[in-house]
Amino acid sequence: MKSSADLITQLIPNIASHAGTELKVTSPTDGAELASLRMDSAAEVDAKIAQSVVAFRVWREVPGPRRGELIRLLGEKLRERKEELSMLVTLECGKILEEGRGEVQEMIDICDYAVGLSRQLYGLTIASERKDHVMQENWLPLGPVGIISAFNFPVAVWAWNAALAIVCGDSTLWKPSEKTPLTALACQAIFDEVAAGFAGAPKGLSQVIIGAGAQGAQMVEDTRVPLISATGSTRMGKIVGPKVAARFGRSLLELGGNNAMIITPSADLDVAIPSILFGSVGTAGQRCTSTRRVIVHRTLIDKVFETLKSAYVQIGASKVGDPLASSTLVGPLIDELAYEGMQAALGRVKAEAVEIVGGERVLQDQFPNGYYVHPALVRLAKQSATIHDETFAPIVYVFPYDTLEEALEIHNEVPQGLSSTIMTTDVRDAEYFKRHSDCGIANVNIGTSGAEIGGAFGGEKETGGGRESGSDSWRAYMRRQTSTTYFGHDKPALAQGIKFDV
Ligand code: NAD
Repeated sequence: MKSSADLITQLIPNIASHAGTELKVTSPTDGAELASLRMDSAAEVDAKIAQSVVAFRVWREVPGPRRGELIRLLGEKLRERKEELSMLVTLECGKILEEGRGEVQEMIDICDYAVGLSRQLYGLTIASERKDHVMQENWLPLGPVGIISAFNFPVAVWAWNAALAIVCGDSTLWKPSEKTPLTALACQAIFDEVAAGFAGAPKGLSQVIIGAGAQGAQMVEDTRVPLISATGSTRMGKIVGPKVAARFGRSLLELGGNNAMIITPSADLDVAIPSILFGSVGTAGQRCTSTRRVIVHRTLIDKVFETLKSAYVQIGASKVGDPLASSTLVGPLIDELAYEGMQAALGRVKAEAVEIVGGERVLQDQFPNGYYVHPALVRLAKQSATIHDETFAPIVYVFPYDTLEEALEIHNEVPQGLSSTIMTTDVRDAEYFKRHSDCGIANVNIGTSGAEIGGAFGGEKETGGGRESGSDSWRAYMRRQTSTTYFGHDKPALAQGIKFDV
């Protein structure tokens, strides 16, 4: 296996040009320093935005299917580099290699999707009330798109946005998480390689801005960036959303979740239990769609909790560890702050808990600077406000319900509205759930996490209301124009039959 330094130089050939002292990038696997980078200054951010405007003006004139060809080539290059990029994802954000591969596959999938989309950016022809008039709806490129991403999906979120934005005729500016700038530079290097050999791709079509909140905030406040697509915490969204709105920009917000599964009396537990485990301990509980609450019919609560307990004990004993090792299912938390957040959440819930399994730090001897934890399983008598906030760590709360109506009330009580699921073999319960879950995602008999790119992804309430990836999400990256054409020879008629004879 390559050393981390070799991997970084292979994926980011120009890494030396980013060297500096402001941003230390460490691996959550063992705390080792991967790189030390400089951040973009305010003047550099400004210059990148200006370059993005120039690139947009060129790119919007390129036909959609030709724009799609660039993304097809990007997808091909990602296929070639999949293994190396997946390893860098694992090194930089700590998710297990299998999930790192899944994330890069998601990039490839969205590229394929965007290629097809590049020939389907269609509008409507609308019946006009006036003779010899044609009314149309046109979809036009929007402008530079600012992408702000979180550490836990360091590359896929960029691809969801960039692949669509670029086939839609936009340029992109990406401010990745300050915890994962290397994977961003690696993606940029791959993009640059593809764009360099592509006639008509302007300089600065896709750019990366290295920095933290301040660099993101500069982009957020700049009127030259008509769309800000921001993925991260609700805390960040509460700052970014109003700032973009204040300048009449558009925002696409993908924020925190507090996702639940309801287990009904008819549920097949062979389906439910593995879904809870992947949803709650997978990615070390650091997915926006991670399962955080399991609401179980009272007749099944003992059985479900005891089954989960033995699985959690086994996972804690043998499945937490080095995310590059094939036997590992749970890698480290991103950093000490995340560990402290987890401990604080467990401390808050302690007085209410019926039982807590796990939650403690493990492997400290092997990885003194890595924050590995035994995932926590918490049994409660009922839901309370203590668990209304998202804790971005592997904690799952299990508690009972008596009627499905009550389960949905409890389910919808939290301020977030991202992903939800019901385990049932009763079609009436499934349909009731789909109609009453207030989330953007409502699954039946599959877990809360692990969405496919074909559907629109996003959630309601404090999750921000944005939709990206599949379905008609592409419309967020374009501007809608209504156009009426008169092709007759007489004096044109006015709408609503208004007479205005001079
Ligand atoms: P974070 O909010 O700390 O940071 C996210 C990004 O926002 C980073 O790039 C950061 O630099 C930037 N940022 C912070 N303050 C800013 C400001 N004032 N102006 C502009 N940019 C600013 O989130 P995180 O810890 O990296 O990620 C975890 C969070 O992200 C969780 O809440 C998780 O649920 C959420 N998330 C949501 C989705 C989704 O699709 N809904 C996907 C992944 C992660």
